[in-house]
Formats: sequence, structure tokens, C-alpha cells
Amino acid sequence: METGNRILSGMRPTGKLHLGNLHGALENWIDLQRNYECYYFVADWHALTSDYGDTGDIHGSRIDMVIDWLSVGLDPEKSTLFVQSSIKEHAELFVILSMITPLAWLERNPTYKEMKTELSEKDLSTFGFLGYPVLQAADIIMYKANGVPVGVDQLPHVELTREIARRFNFLYREIFPIPETLLTDFPKLLGIDGRKMSKSYENSIYISDRGDVLEKKVAAMFTDPQRMRRNDPGRPEICNVYTFHQIYSPGEDVDRIGVECRKAGIGCTDCKRQLSARIAETMKPVHDRRDYYLRHPEEVRAIIENGNARASRIARQTMEEVREAVRI
Ligand code: SF4
Repeated sequence: METGNRILSGMRPTGKLHLGNLHGALENWIDLQRNYECYYFVADWHALTSDYGDTGDIHGSRIDMVIDWLSVGLDPEKSTLFVQSSIKEHAELFVILSMITPLAWLERNPTYKEMKTELSEKDLSTFGFLGYPVLQAADIIMYKANGVPVGVDQLPHVELTREIARRFNFLYREIFPIPETLLTDFPKLLGIDGRKMSKSYENSIYISDRGDVLEKKVAAMFTDPQRMRRNDPGRPEICNVYTFHQIYSPGEDVDRIGVECRKAGIGCTDCKRQLSARIAETMKPVHDRRDYYLRHPEEVRAIIENGNARASRIARQTMEEVREAVRI
């Protein structure tokens, strides 16, 4: 796919990041740093759309999330890491884009309906929740991003951003490039209970998990449900533990476990023990970096302030153009 050089993506600070976030998004972010000018932001206003009733964790989670980002290898020399709510221009652009976005575009957003069902314990019948794709559009086009790395489930959002950007360009002036999607293809890591890995299901293995916590979680992972006894042959292709091995274990181990599982040559307890050892080994440098940043929160704050300053320069410039185009 042809894109220019600027990438933008964000994450909501709703708690610790898990291995699904790492392999589903962050690894891709790290790769993109090599060839693109990357802007990655803490989407704290977006966290408000669903957590407006209990905002206690959002502030602390912002810094925790950036520590997770840095520990997995996001490089603040290469990427601009910033906090959405520090750049007030996002709100201004959001207001302007709200004026030109037809309600029907938002109502047909599939994630809107899906999330309302998924988070049924929260009242999401709010203007902010319906309108969050407009805020997302403002986040993206503010930086004139050419590419947005997303998973398949977020494709409709980027499509909506493209439509909003086109509409702005048509109504006022050609200011915004139409961003392309950079589709992230990744293995589906399920939570320890076999459902989608999600903080709200309390089934996640977190990036920060280690030692006993990690071992206990891996030991509790659901496996092939047909493998009731040690002597039953298993089906690694449908086993979540095996999917994890494919990421964390060397190829020859993955092949061996696959063969042994099918003929009941290895038990699930053993298989899981090997997996938690592999995860611990792979994540060791991540945990070391995490410990470093936990000991040096002032460095993390400085990284965020630098990122905010860089992002702010671009946002101010864009808004000058926008105000001129809209004549307001
Ligand atoms: S041996 Fe491993 S791959 Fe096979 S079912 Fe058990 S946990 Fe899954």
C-alpha cells in the first residue's frame, strides 16, 4: 500500500496492557518506527467515553501505559509519544468535524452497537460515545497522517475518518490527506478462559506479569476441551496454549509439541510449564526495562512532555489552516 510517511495510532488508558495488546498492536508500532514518522498517543479522552462514571484510574493509567510502551521497545527518539488531553486542539477540531458529520454515519458504526452490548453494565447512550469516531477522526487528521495501523475490527472507523476528511476537503479546502489503513495481521491470542483477551473479562496475561503470577495464569489456561485425561490425544491446532507456543517457543519445540500432543506424548501440565518458562525468558528484557522506568518516573514524564510539545506544534499549525478554511 502506498502511503506518505506519517503514521498515527492511539490506545485508551484503561489499565495494564496485556500480551494481546503487545502482539496485536505494539509489535507493529515498533516495526513501523523504522520506516515512518510515528505519532502514538494516550487516548485519555476516549477512555472517558466508557469510563466517565469512574475516572479514578485514567490519570494513573496514562503513565503506566507509557511505561509499558517504553518497556516493549517503543523508542521516544524515533516516535512521538503524547497524551491526547494535553493537546486541546483535538477538542476544537472535534467540534468542527461534528458539525459536518451526518448522524447516520455514526449510527451505522458496527463497533458502536457491539460495544454497547459488550459493556452492557455501563450506560453508553451518550452523545460522547456515539460521537467518539469523530474525535478519532480529529486525532488522525490533525497530524495529516497518511497511514493508520489497525486490526480488522477497526476498519470501519478509519473508513469513517476518510469520509469525514473528504467531506471537510470538499466543503472548505483541501487540507487533509485521506489516510490509508495499514492492516495488522496477527495471531489471535485468547485469554486464559478461551474468550477474547480483555481486561473486562479478567482473563488477561499482562505484559508486566512474571514469576508466580505468570506461572499460575499459564497453568490455568484452557486447552483442548476434548483432552480430559492425560492419555487422550490432543488437537494443538485448536489449543490456545499452542498458539502461545507458536509465538514464544523456537520452531523445533513448536513442531515437537504438536507431534507429541497429537499422540498424548506430552501432558498439558508439562506443556504449560514449558510455555511459562519461554514467556518469562522472552519477556525478561521487557521486565528489566519496565523496572528501570518504574525507578525513573521523571524520565517518563520528560518523554511525555517532549512528545506533547512536538505534537502541539503540528496541531497548532493544522488548526490555523482549519480556522482559516472554515473562516471562524
Ligand atoms: S499438550 Fe499443549 S498443545 Fe496439547 S492440548 Fe495440552 S496444552 Fe494444548
